[in-house]
Amino acid sequence: MQQILKINQTGNTIVSDFLRGQWQGSPVNGYRNIGYNHMPKDALRNILLAEQNNLCCYCMRHIFYTSRENKNCTLEHIIPRAVNDYNTFLRYTNQSDILNENVVIQSVFTASTVMLEIPPAPHHIAYHNLVASCDGSIWDNPNQPTRYTAQFCNGHRGNEFIHPFFYDGHVNENIIYDHTGLVYYTEDDDRQTMINHLNLNYATLKKVRRVWFFISTSEFNLVQVEAANDQLSRQNILTISILDSPLQNFQDDELINTFITDLFWGILLQYRWFYGATFQ
Ligand SMILES: [Zn+2]
Repeated sequence: MQQILKINQTGNTIVSDFLRGQWQGSPVNGYRNIGYNHMPKDALRNILLAEQNNLCCYCMRHIFYTSRENKNCTLEHIIPRAVNDYNTFLRYTNQSDILNENVVIQSVFTASTVMLEIPPAPHHIAYHNLVASCDGSIWDNPNQPTRYTAQFCNGHRGNEFIHPFFYDGHVNENIIYDHTGLVYYTEDDDRQTMINHLNLNYATLKKVRRVWFFISTSEFNLVQVEAANDQLSRQNILTISILDSPLQNFQDDELINTFITDLFWGILLQYRWFYGATFQ
């Protein structure tokens, strides 16, 4: 997982300008329509994608947004919009200085009789409460492909409590990938439960990481992998990477048949972040 730094001042400016525009000019009328569905999202989404290097905040998939019809990216509320009580809200802010300093519960703004400055910004639209996640879309197998969405990350999580792992400076030491493709959180059962809420050990994700483990420890570089446009060159890369590894076993034959296909090779390349990642 990569650390996400929230240092783009424009993120707050977008939210601040929106809130100022929704202020009705009197204590009686207050703010109007300051929910997530009313705010303009394009500029903010671009900031989130750039500061995350176009990587899903949870699974490290390459994410993009070209149009409503052509995207694999969603905006994730770290503190879900459904949270409307202070005890649940504090559970998040108590675990993160970034949230604590920059985000307040939405009702502070919706009930305000005066115009407020940000930060802190209301949690439905706060820049610091929003990150870009993939849509969890995946295919079941390369031969009879059915596309499923929300199998992991934002859509799978729903409103479950998640610690904002990606805000931690030590995220790379705490989130571990092992050579079987498994991801886990070191020495903390609660946070392992959160990894499970995100379904980051979904079978295909594990296979993708297992393949990257083999390729990372092989003679092939990323340029060669990205240039493998036909099944023969893919088979060559996969077979040599896997057979040369002392950690391969008989089940890895299936990986070759799966990932030489256009569909699954494409999925593999969406996870190229794992080339050079640390595997244990
Ligand atoms: Zn994801």
